[in-house]
Amino acid sequence: MSAPALETDAVTVEIDGRRIIDAVSFTARAGEVHALIGPNGAGKSTLLGVIAGDQAASAGGVRINGLPLEEVSLRELARQRAVLLQDHTVFFGFTVRQVVEMGRAPWARTSQEDDDDSLVTAALSAADVRHLEHRRIPSLSGGERARAAFARVLAQNTGILLLDEPTAALDLGHQEAVLQVARDRARAGHAVVVVLHDLTLAAAWSDRITLLEQGRVVASGTPDEVLTAERISAVYRHPVEVIRHPSSDALLVVPVRRAG
Ligand code: ADP
Ligand code: MG
Repeated sequence: MSAPALETDAVTVEIDGRRIIDAVSFTARAGEVHALIGPNGAGKSTLLGVIAGDQAASAGGVRINGLPLEEVSLRELARQRAVLLQDHTVFFGFTVRQVVEMGRAPWARTSQEDDDDSLVTAALSAADVRHLEHRRIPSLSGGERARAAFARVLAQNTGILLLDEPTAALDLGHQEAVLQVARDRARAGHAVVVVLHDLTLAAAWSDRITLLEQGRVVASGTPDEVLTAERISAVYRHPVEVIRHPSSDALLVVPVRRAG
């Protein structure tokens, strides 16, 4: 089997003496959508930052395509992985198309540069923002802005896609569309790591799920293995039922609510 696209070995992150990520070993493989789930503050964004090479680890190692991260140049890193941050407010002043074109910067002066225009247009279409391409970012709704940011990481055309809550601001149709694009990328041989809060969405669209709680991995495996009612109720401190859709057999995670 080829080397995992991304691998952490007992990664720990301490900030101001607080352990935010605690000895996390995590593997993402090409061909798979891997969801990171867990309550607010569990360390999902921090772990994504570590595997992206944006956040330094206090201990442990990260490998990207088999190479220790510290041996990969920033330029090379930008050709291997694209990152959609949870907070994408940095593009004020630019048009949607300009933001998406920024995703092509790592490929300047390479043979891939010839594909810039077609990849930018394809990314705009895939994120359903082509009709907004000449609009400036501040004039967009929150969901439209999130889709423009998604289009930028698609245009980067990397083998590894790291997405932090890409669906948080989106309506139901666009949530499905974004995760369909993510799955298509995985089926084309890319590795996708995606932070999700909606556990039914995670069950539907991911091949593997890693559940974090207070900086530690509580469970990692297929959706069936990870999403048990007992475990989810305990970690999220709220009772849930995990049921199966009567015809599609899809896993549904449903909060238990008091009557009245
Ligand atoms: P998640 O994405 O799972 O909601 P984060 O990875 O953003 O969680 O944060 C995990 C924990 O680490 C939180 O308690 C957060 O407040 C804390 N944290 C994250 N970044 C910093 C930082 N730069 N300084 C101090 N605390 C931080
Ligand atoms: Mg987060």
